[in-house]
Parts: sequence; structure tokens; C-alpha cells
Amino acid sequence: MNDLLSHWDALLIATTFFALVLVEGLSGLFQNQKKHSRHWWIDFISLAQVALLIKPAIFLLASLGLGLLLTDYQNALTDMPFWLGFLLVFLPDDFTHYWYHRLAHENDWMWPWHRTHHSTPTYQTSIAFRENWAWFWFMPGIWWSAAMFYFGLVEQVVLSTAIIGLHNTLIHNGFTFDTKLYNRPIIGKLIKAFEHIIQTPSLHRGHHGLGRNGVPMGNYGQTLFIWDVIFGTAKFIGGKIPEKYGVIKGGEEPWYTQLWAPYGYRKTINPQTIAE
Ligand SMILES: [Zn+2]
Ligand SMILES: [Zn+2]
Repeated sequence: MNDLLSHWDALLIATTFFALVLVEGLSGLFQNQKKHSRHWWIDFISLAQVALLIKPAIFLLASLGLGLLLTDYQNALTDMPFWLGFLLVFLPDDFTHYWYHRLAHENDWMWPWHRTHHSTPTYQTSIAFRENWAWFWFMPGIWWSAAMFYFGLVEQVVLSTAIIGLHNTLIHNGFTFDTKLYNRPIIGKLIKAFEHIIQTPSLHRGHHGLGRNGVPMGNYGQTLFIWDVIFGTAKFIGGKIPEKYGVIKGGEEPWYTQLWAPYGYRKTINPQTIAE
């Protein structure tokens, strides 16, 4: 039991994820969404492969590698003040994610790693961890967290994972209650100020959006949004709903390519095809 509770980050994220998927389903949110069952499978297999395979493998590989190279430094940061240690875990993770995400959108050779996240025409909680496996294998933040774990910042890694994972789950929720808040005199102003620092559902809906109110080449932040503000990729849409969701480049790939590209990728995609 204690072992299970030490993974409270994963438990919290999984509980919130499945509860929201259930509530969205019961509320009838998916009734008018033409989501084929294969999309659901891709959502859930993506989540399972990162949680049960890729992330544990990265933590193991990082610990073996660092164990060989920096044997004397295992747990070297354990005595660091908690919140300083937390910033050391969280900020590089979030900062590198901004660039990783941006590069994936700006470079055709990286796009197969991330296009799976955008390849569903729906916006809902179940897509929060929908990604090609390469996206997770090369994600700098996971490797960074694994290294910090080796150096002894164990609780900070758990807390950072909980914050990033929970936030990522919540911003993908399919409800749009928040859109009304933007027009309220005081709370609207507060949200608009808040959005300069933290990523909100509205900003991320924009990132998934195409056409009117879509920002497919901007709003790349993970948890913090200040990176977009600093590097000029922020586009505030004031709670407006994008015209539609999906991918700009290429038609639909087979499910196995979406999950495990580059497997099957060359045969099925011409990156120059615009199929909006
Ligand atoms: Zn993206
Ligand atoms: Zn997303």
C-alpha cells in the first residue's frame, strides 16, 4: 500500500483523467462528435505505453547510465532546500518542453512524433496523452526528471510530475464553461492576466484549432505560458472556440503509424499535402 501511495502523482493523474473521460461521456459531450473507435484506442494505448513502458524504461536507463558515469553523485542533491530543488526539476522541464513542442510543429522531420496528438477532430480529456511513442522517448523533460531523481530530488520529481500531468489532463477537458468567464468584467480581466503566465484550456484549444480562432503554429507552452509570451508565439483568443480541430498536413495515417511512426510513415504521408 505504501508503495502504491508513493506513486501518488500517477494515481492522481489517472483518477482525474478517467473521471473526466467518464463525466464527459455521461454528459453527452461525445454525442455529436464523429470519433471513430480507433481514435479511442489510439488515445488509451498512447497513455498506457508512456505510463507503463516508456517512462519507467527512461528512468531505468538514466539511472543505469548515471550510475556508471557519476557513481559518487547519486543522491548528491538530497539536502537541497525543497523548493529550490522543485524549481530545478520543474523549470528546465517546462522550458525544454516549449522548444521541443515548437520544433515539432516547425520541422517536417519532427512532425511525425507529435502529429498523433493533433490527429483527432475532437477536443477532449482522452487525447491529453495521445502521442506517438517517439514523442515520449525523446522528450527532454522525462530524461531530466529521471536524472534529478537519480541525484536525489525524489519528492520534487513526484510533485512536478503531478502538477504537469494534472494540468495537462485538465486543459484538455472537453467542456467549454470557461468561455463565458472571459466576458465578465473582473474575472475576465483576471483570467486574461493569468493567461500570460499559465497555460489555460482556451489557449490550448487554440493550439489544437484550425480556421477561425485556431493557433496551430503558436501557444506551445506546457504548464507555463510565459515562454510563448517571451518568444513571441503567444496568441490570446479570449475564450473563443476554434472553428475546428485536427491536422493541417497530410491525410489520416493507419493507427500503427500514429502510435509507432516512423513505422509506416513514409509510405502513407506526403508532408506537402495540405488536406484541411
Ligand atoms: Zn502541438
Ligand atoms: Zn494538446
